Amino acid sequence: FRNGESSQVIVPTPDGAVSFGKNHPVVVVAGPCSVENEGMIVETAKRVKAAGAKFLRGGAYKPRTSPYAFQGHGESALELLAAAREATGLGIITEVMDAADLEKIAEVADVVQVGARNMQNFALLKKVGAQNKPVLLKRGMSATIDEWLMAAEYILAAGNPNVILCERGIRTFDLHYVRNTLDLSVLPVLRSLTHLPVMIDPSHGTGKAEYVPDMAKAAIAAGTDSLMIEVHPNPAKALSDGPQSLTPERFDHLMQELEVMAKVM
Ligand code: PEP
Ligand code: MN
Repeated sequence: FRNGESSQVIVPTPDGAVSFGKNHPVVVVAGPCSVENEGMIVETAKRVKAAGAKFLRGGAYKPRTSPYAFQGHGESALELLAAAREATGLGIITEVMDAADLEKIAEVADVVQVGARNMQNFALLKKVGAQNKPVLLKRGMSATIDEWLMAAEYILAAGNPNVILCERGIRTFDLHYVRNTLDLSVLPVLRSLTHLPVMIDPSHGTGKAEYVPDMAKAAIAAGTDSLMIEVHPNPAKALSDGPQSLTPERFDHLMQELEVMAKVM
């Protein structure tokens, strides 16, 4: 890792290049856990864009604990993400679980996400490292910082320098009140260890919508480069992660609060 150097990952989007990293505005990524249908993804995209988000997130291929839970709409969801991109100009971030899907995902995605459960899927890391799209590498739920950085190193070593690290909460002993423990200490720690930009995901980090705004503010106070926030037009009806999803109204309010703290884009 090139520690100590200023760093940025520049991502081209339909609306222009967006820079993640030191001395740049905080980049906000927002959208539903899963792409459910055209109406909801396009509506959500318009709402989060109006609030100031630069990227739309949404899963087409979902890593679900239960094989009987909604698995994502796959390829047809990629088409809906392309429609939302076209309608809004937002960049798209979506997850790849299987290297066999990477090419078609990379046709639509401006950033390819590797999820927590695949952080040490070394074959997948080599594949995303060998293609051109920037990669969002989520921290494994029980990964140490060194393991996480070594996973990033796989992508860099395969030839792709554009990696963003995303803290999404880790497993600790008390999961009664929160889904995970959001480890905000990674912000100062990673700043001393790596040049790579960092994103904080308080949605998966807490698992509860009511806790997301405070943790988003804490992440900004601790110097995050970016935030990922799950937003759904009707969280009670969401096919995945409804309890941690903000409504578009609540997200808009949060963005106004964040803008008081930092330059957010
Ligand atoms: C997601 O971003 O919806 C997701 C499944 O995240 P994670 O890999 O952090 O659980
Ligand atoms: Mn989710």
